[in-house]
Amino acid sequence: MNPVRADHISPLDMFKIGVGPSSSHTVGPMVAALEFRKIVSELLVKLPAKSAHQYTIKVELYGSLSATGSGHQTDGAVCGGLWGYSPKESMPDEIWSATEKLKKNPILPFAELGDKVKVRFHPDEDLVWAAWTMDGKPLPHPNTMRFLLKEGENTIKELIILSVGGGFVEPVDAVTWERQPAGSSTTIHDLPYPYNSGKEFVDQCNKHKMAPWQIVVENQKVCGLSELKLREELSKILAVFDSCVERGLSTEGILPGGLNVKRRAKALHEQMLAGTKVTVYSSPAGLKPSVYAIAVNEENAAGGRVVTAPTNGSSGLIPAVFRTLQESHELSQETLQNGLIVASVVGALVKVHASISGAEVGCQGEVGTSCAMAAAGAVAMLGGSADQIEQAAEIGIEHHLGMTCDPIKGLVQVPCIERNAMGAVKALNAAELALACDGTHLISLDRSLEVMKQTGLDMNQKYKETATGGLALG
Ligand code: SF4
Repeated sequence: MNPVRADHISPLDMFKIGVGPSSSHTVGPMVAALEFRKIVSELLVKLPAKSAHQYTIKVELYGSLSATGSGHQTDGAVCGGLWGYSPKESMPDEIWSATEKLKKNPILPFAELGDKVKVRFHPDEDLVWAAWTMDGKPLPHPNTMRFLLKEGENTIKELIILSVGGGFVEPVDAVTWERQPAGSSTTIHDLPYPYNSGKEFVDQCNKHKMAPWQIVVENQKVCGLSELKLREELSKILAVFDSCVERGLSTEGILPGGLNVKRRAKALHEQMLAGTKVTVYSSPAGLKPSVYAIAVNEENAAGGRVVTAPTNGSSGLIPAVFRTLQESHELSQETLQNGLIVASVVGALVKVHASISGAEVGCQGEVGTSCAMAAAGAVAMLGGSADQIEQAAEIGIEHHLGMTCDPIKGLVQVPCIERNAMGAVKALNAAELALACDGTHLISLDRSLEVMKQTGLDMNQKYKETATGGLALG
């Protein structure tokens, strides 16, 4: 099963630039479709030239992808990926235009195959919203997809692939259904500062008297990622955070999807700046993290450019916490990058020992994980110790345990947008609590992850991104 170890997961795996509204239901399927497109291209380009010939791609979406996929624009993401668009490189508008283009003319553009060979995909005829079993067997994961390349009735290529949360995808062996490693964690390296638990990470920092982010930087060098490249990419990610907040704060209107949810970040921000909002116990600026989180999540819900943090559903929380702290503490770019690096350690630990997928463990794995990451990053940026970082992350997880995923109409809007605001406030509170203590606490981060995983296993399927229980019932 991938990934094998938390210390091999790069900060750039945890923070990926993409499009909303969902990392598991939008970015993952788009990445998978793009991957299948490459496989098809490589296969067909090698075949001897034939006279005019047509192939068809069929896509089957199973489980949670089927249950909430239309609200999460999974079909549009598949069309975008098959067309050749990438969640990171392509603009959201061009990605979402692929569906209409394919409805008008269901032939995918493969310039390398010439004029005679055509590959067809019609979104209404060749995409199947399937059930919770595949060929009579239970699914290997709640977010399972199957891509088929057909020549007439014959299948000439098959890819079964999972969207395991945060935009990560994992192919599955078509016979054994064994999950295959994917991404940057496929090769195991002999790292200078190995860790695969919260305790081991803290021990490495304390034993070597190194800053927590430096442990990751040194390990990543051995994995082939230089510090210069890492910091360049992190600075791009911080820029996307900022542009996303700015767009959210300046855009009004109704979010797509039919729920008639009004965008409110702009109005809230204006009230906050004017000092006209009712204050409960603090200054009007106390609303900042909530307003910033709502701004980003409204952008996400509108299918805009966001960063997985660690998922799209939870994409507003970390930008909100980091921007709030940057403004109040005048943090440098380097400090913000260090905060992201430390936050990514927590995300990687959750990914390996529990899950960051709402379809697997509910929202505790998305907003809960993001809260823990933000709290850990905040403590790191404000000069806390490794023990305090671990404690802040544990507080962030502990107080989201059991939180369900029940988005109304399968849209990443209610409760998701406000949930990020709540999580941002909790993250700041967790950081304050941890910084006020010496890092000694009863429940460890590692234990809280065991509990998250078991709670997710015990949770009824209707509360795991299927829109069939809880708030989703209205
Ligand atoms: S409820 Fe939470 S886990 Fe579910 S879609 Fe919304 S943000 Fe993601």
